[in-house]
Amino acid sequence: MLNFSFVNPTQIHFGAGQIAAIVQAIPKSAKVLVVYGGGSIKRNGVYEQLVSALSDHQWDEFGGIEPNPSYQTCMQAVAKINSEGFDYILAVGGGSVIDGSKFIAAAARFDGEPWEILSKGAAVKDALPIGVVLTLPATGSESNSFSVVSNTDTQDKLPFASPLVQPKFAVLDPQVMASLPTRQLSNGVVDAFVHIMEQYLTYPVNGKVQDRFAEGLLLTLIEEGPKLFSADVSDDTRANVMWAATMALNGLIGAGVPQDWATHMIGHEITALYGLDHAQTLAIVLPRMMASQRITKREKLLQYAERVWGLDTHSAPEAAIDTAIIKTEAFFQQVQMKTRFSEYGLGEEVVAPIVAQLERHGMTALGEHQAVTLEDSAAILRASV
Ligand code: NAP
Ligand code: FE
Repeated sequence: MLNFSFVNPTQIHFGAGQIAAIVQAIPKSAKVLVVYGGGSIKRNGVYEQLVSALSDHQWDEFGGIEPNPSYQTCMQAVAKINSEGFDYILAVGGGSVIDGSKFIAAAARFDGEPWEILSKGAAVKDALPIGVVLTLPATGSESNSFSVVSNTDTQDKLPFASPLVQPKFAVLDPQVMASLPTRQLSNGVVDAFVHIMEQYLTYPVNGKVQDRFAEGLLLTLIEEGPKLFSADVSDDTRANVMWAATMALNGLIGAGVPQDWATHMIGHEITALYGLDHAQTLAIVLPRMMASQRITKREKLLQYAERVWGLDTHSAPEAAIDTAIIKTEAFFQQVQMKTRFSEYGLGEEVVAPIVAQLERHGMTALGEHQAVTLEDSAAILRASV
């Protein structure tokens, strides 16, 4: 196992009715800005629960954070904070609202041009505290320090990370999933699955604890994910998927093991250029990434084939790796996700612009070994048409 320091300071309030927990979770003296997205919270009962929980707090709201939150919209919230003096952000939504809120929290306290937090990795030295009410299990953003923000003028989609923007608390009420459309349920399962894979499918460092956590989470998503799409989905299925998605990217399974993230980096460029949802890009790239890296990832691919898919890796190891990759793609399809560019009406013409964006962003050697060259990325994309 590699050395690591691990802390996850986000307090989780899990279960039905837990939105009420924000009464105690946010200091009474705080002036709260509730940040949300396109308005789903006003149609599914979440907003009413918030209004009742915040009845003793001073608060206002900022809506309109779009999927793949834009720098431009976030800066409107920063202007409101600076002119009206809020000192706590309550992010109510999915990864986009949470990521946007993280950027807003840092930008409102930033001395200089906040875009440089994303474009130049400028250090975040202060940020407003953030609480979260999660409405879409997918990204893990509710209990991690990462954020991804897009600039619609320049077609950049760039990440930043700071412990200062890690949420103080997150409410995970699986009942909010009832109003999620199929597309977002698919996105959630696939994003969480790929987060686990990017921390698991690297090379062995004898991180048995992390490996078995990761395998347990993958198996949970494989077993429970498809049930989300049936009319009689149970509370337990929703609860297990929601908790698995949070655990997938809260730092625990990634502690002491190598990390990949090549699929995510390529995926961000696809979203920036062609507007596909984040998880839609991952489902296209991951199967071909696995095939491309079958030598560098060989030992973990065999472990994955055996422990996650129950394949016999001893008598025919190459066939087991092939089958594990096929089963991964079939699982994405089972959770109603497309896995090819052509299914979105896109073809080979996408390869060169995506590779040019990767080069512009310095993404020329990706993955746990920095073994994924631009040529490899191009080949992966071509094979994914
Ligand atoms: P999202 O972009 O936050 O939300 C997608 C859509 O789902 C929105 O239209 C939203 O509507 C709707 N929605 C959310 N909750 C709903 C509910 N309960 N009922 C009905 N509709 C609901 O999706 P996401 O997949 O969670 O986030 C994707 C973003 O996170 C991407 O930008 C991605 O790059 C980023 N990401 C971040 C991390 C991280 O660690 N920080 C990791 C992976 C990905 P409203 O706008 O109306 O709410
Ligand atoms: Fe992701």
